[in-house]
Amino acid sequence: MRLTVVGSGDAFGSGGRFNTCFFLETVKGTLLVDCGASSLVALKAHGLDPNRIDGIVLSHLHGDHFGALPFLLLDAQFLAERARPLLIAGPPGTRARLDALLEVFFPRSTTNKWRFSWEVMEIEVGRPTDVLGHAVTTTEVVHFSGAPSTAVRLSDGRSLFAYSGDTEWVETLVSVADGADLFIVECYGYSGHMPGHITWDVLRTRLPELRARRIMVTHMNPTVLGRLDEVRAAGALVAEDGLVTEV
Ligand SMILES: [Zn+2]
Repeated sequence: MRLTVVGSGDAFGSGGRFNTCFFLETVKGTLLVDCGASSLVALKAHGLDPNRIDGIVLSHLHGDHFGALPFLLLDAQFLAERARPLLIAGPPGTRARLDALLEVFFPRSTTNKWRFSWEVMEIEVGRPTDVLGHAVTTTEVVHFSGAPSTAVRLSDGRSLFAYSGDTEWVETLVSVADGADLFIVECYGYSGHMPGHITWDVLRTRLPELRARRIMVTHMNPTVLGRLDEVRAAGALVAEDGLVTEV
């Protein structure tokens, strides 16, 4: 599969980076993993046609990870004239939160007569689930979002993509990363321990335990963005908006 990093930023656009969004072209189709608030703008800035997306997998229900959905859906309805169906797969609670989001941003949008079919699939945590032919398994992590926040493992049968979501360090990340061709891990802060997020202080001591072929950090705040040379020197990749790589 091929990954294009659409957004590698934190919630605050640190460094001018877009909110979290990964574009995956697999042997089964085209998926987004996370769709943060700036993601429709980011897709267009990178020349990626939203109408190509078959499905969206959400790690958790924070605005910087699912906030672009109303814009994406309404763009598909009114501007992009989407015809192909769209599947939105997320943690338990996704349907209600997405409806609330749609109504806050665009009242009565939940009663639209949609020109394309779209549906929500709520992925049971820990249960292997088929998402448009991809094997997806989520694991609950530690990051308050009003619903289960999850890490995601996703395989198209050829490559295995793994992603921590947003979380503080939890031992289960070792199994999330195990055997992955690429493990993308959040590294929001540089030093100390932060509730709900991983810092470089913690991650660098854990890198030897992560048995993924490649490890890439993302979701950096300014304290990490200023020390990326240390991250690279430790052998990790750094996510950059627009980066394209084979997984
Ligand atoms: Zn986030």
